Amino acid sequence: MLSEGTIIALSTPSGTGALAILRLSGPQAITQCAKLFRAASGASLDTVASHTIHLGHLYAKDQMIDEVLVSVFRNPRSYTGEDVVEISCHGSQYIQQAILNAFIANGIRPAQAGEFTLRAFINGKMDLTQAEAVADVIAAENEASHKIALQQMRGGISKEIRQLRKELLDFASLIELELDFAEEDVDFADRKAFELLLQKIQRLLKGLIDSFALGNVIKKGVPVAIIGAPNAGKSTLLNTLLKEDKAIISAIAGTTRDSIEDEINVQGIGFRFIDTAGIRETTDEIEQIGIQKAYEKISLATIILYMIDSTCYRSEIALHQEKIEELKRANPNKKIIIVFNKADLLSPNSNNKLYDCEVLEMSAKNNVGVTLLKDILVKTIKAADRRDEGIITNSRHYAALIAAQDALAKVQNGLEENLSGDLLAIDLREALYQLGAVTGEVTNDELLGNIFANFCIGK
Ligand code: GDP
Repeated sequence: MLSEGTIIALSTPSGTGALAILRLSGPQAITQCAKLFRAASGASLDTVASHTIHLGHLYAKDQMIDEVLVSVFRNPRSYTGEDVVEISCHGSQYIQQAILNAFIANGIRPAQAGEFTLRAFINGKMDLTQAEAVADVIAAENEASHKIALQQMRGGISKEIRQLRKELLDFASLIELELDFAEEDVDFADRKAFELLLQKIQRLLKGLIDSFALGNVIKKGVPVAIIGAPNAGKSTLLNTLLKEDKAIISAIAGTTRDSIEDEINVQGIGFRFIDTAGIRETTDEIEQIGIQKAYEKISLATIILYMIDSTCYRSEIALHQEKIEELKRANPNKKIIIVFNKADLLSPNSNNKLYDCEVLEMSAKNNVGVTLLKDILVKTIKAADRRDEGIITNSRHYAALIAAQDALAKVQNGLEENLSGDLLAIDLREALYQLGAVTGEVTNDELLGNIFANFCIGK
């Protein structure tokens, strides 16, 4: 058994705080707490109703540790589905440790990472995608990633996957049944209906798989590479965006040798701005490395900001145009935004017509046009957002869905080639396994161990 006994852990961050919460879960949670706790009302925790809170004192070997509030949740109506007790105490590290020690001395075991949520999964309180989303909700640092995590925690993608898996399972059973009657050459499964179902599942899978690129960047911060010739004003823009001096600003060409990265929150979406070394031919070895990095960063970026110094010569504009065409060819799926900087030094120019990309003029130094740029960034992400249809952010789900897609493609081919039921059944079982692994309908200890080991202790 993966998780047994009664466990305890500090559920608030370690360190000193106004308050701290310790949580117990398991068959002994309430009875062991009742032994150490004396309620001000005189009630015994052993008999109090579920979902009630009690003021009193906690003792270790007749020594009072603290005045605390104890919340009681009886199984199955608790986070883990077991008896759960939450103790709110004063947040000194001494008190936290003393309470932990008192319970451990009475045979309660310290919880492992993610063990409360693991139990919630084992006891059917949530499926695997929901359990994983609990960690994402805790880790979310901006509104957009929070919303996606919350949606997943509430069952977002799993409902649809479970439903399709069920339909697939029904067909699989019919095909397996045919195998039992192989000699009689009967077809229980309607091949036409089966093909339609496979198409439906493949459509859903494709949508979810495609959503991963966006889901993943929203979760981690949308990477935006700022590129352009040295001195165009890339670091200045970054600084204006960050409103702090993290990037080096200098009027000497080629000083931004390494790339610098920072995240800012624009209208609830996290954007990771990457200032790169200017892209140009150079003999300077260190700068070469910087330029190499710029190309690497471009390959990782979702959005590319190509910055041009508005005061540059006409002849340079033609070169930029070539570079932008090259960028577009090499990155057909990336949004490219062209920024003419230093607009303060020029009257409005007509360069805008030159490119069939989003173009804007700005003065990074004077913070003119920066708000418009932010609006374009947010619009770009919102336009690609298909949250209503489900969005995946988790690389484990991504890998499993791709494996399911591959297996189903083999089934589809097999149908076209009139393969026998026993051959179809092999790929069908694989697809069912992979879909089931996403929601946790099929699972094993190793998989669960890996998932919950990434949780924090106390969750
Ligand atoms: P980078 O090499 O592309 O990162 O360029 P920097 O950000 O280091 O800027 C190069 C020079 O251009 C600095 O002297 C900046 O102060 C100046 N600069 C940047 N943006 C503007 C702007 O909007 N207007 C003007 N007049 N100067 C700017």
